[in-house]
Amino acid sequence: MLAASDPLPEQRLPIGEDATRLPRAGDKPLLMVLVVGETVRAANWGLNGYARQTTPQLTKRGVINFTDVSTCGTSTAVSLPCMFAPIGKDDYDKRYIKSHESLLDVLDHAGFNVLWLDNQAGCKGVCDGVSQQSIQPDDHPKQCQDGRCLDEALDEELRARLDNLEGDTVIVLHQLGNHGPSYYQRYPEAFRRFTPTCDSADLNSCSQQAITNSYDNAILYTDSVLDHVIGALAEQSHHAASLLYLSDHGESLGEHGLYLHGLPYAIAPKEQTQVPMVWWSSAAFDAAVGLDKDCLATTRDAPIGHANLFHSVLGALRVESRILNPQQDMTRVCRSDA
Ligand SMILES: [Zn+2]
Repeated sequence: MLAASDPLPEQRLPIGEDATRLPRAGDKPLLMVLVVGETVRAANWGLNGYARQTTPQLTKRGVINFTDVSTCGTSTAVSLPCMFAPIGKDDYDKRYIKSHESLLDVLDHAGFNVLWLDNQAGCKGVCDGVSQQSIQPDDHPKQCQDGRCLDEALDEELRARLDNLEGDTVIVLHQLGNHGPSYYQRYPEAFRRFTPTCDSADLNSCSQQAITNSYDNAILYTDSVLDHVIGALAEQSHHAASLLYLSDHGESLGEHGLYLHGLPYAIAPKEQTQVPMVWWSSAAFDAAVGLDKDCLATTRDAPIGHANLFHSVLGALRVESRILNPQQDMTRVCRSDA
């Protein structure tokens, strides 16, 4: 371990170099699409019982929706590296995380092809060791304006690659999501369903209801993007596919006089620390890894958090490594040993 006074190493230190893929059923390679959501809070998520149906498409898909998910931090800069690290909020250590490889490197060590597709300000170091590509506005003229792209561009990038993927693969889609304060710029006109909206980055100039309307429209749009991604995965048959969606932190929309996010965790309201998480997988995926989805569905109200992501992704993909903590793998009790 590094002492507090030690300088950070120039190269990240390896983790999970012993990672291997366990045997599994069937002959299809695995594909997991990991969608990193942005600024979507649990309270406004339709599947969580919000008074507005902001997730109509995911509801139809019959996904498993986890209702009690807490974040590692209240900002992208804290949460994102933490989500991909083997340690979570309770033992959060910025120096450890910065100086060590991430979940994506462990997957790489195990023989997965890993790609990070970004529609945001980058991956904060977690994809440094794997392939990465940012959305280029010129490639998605319908989705992009003034250098900023709607998240459907991520679905287009994924679909362009699906037929040519080889071997076990993990693709991360890093969304722009509900990034504030310009919520009104996060969805196309067709998703301006809750009105009036706040069509300004100056939240002081809008009513709380208008701000919430714009925020909810952006969630409706994320619901549609996730539905399209699941559709693409369900339609292809060469990979046994799954999708995990998890938001990085929540957002305050005027409650307690607070807006946006980034409060110190100890005093942050749950609007900033509780986020949605959704699991979808094909029957082929479940059969390949021995996952009992009815069992997984019974765990949907258990308290979990970002800390579970690292271990659950490895577990669900049947990767074995000394760094994997089975206690933190939320799929473990629902998987049979193939
Ligand atoms: Zn964020």
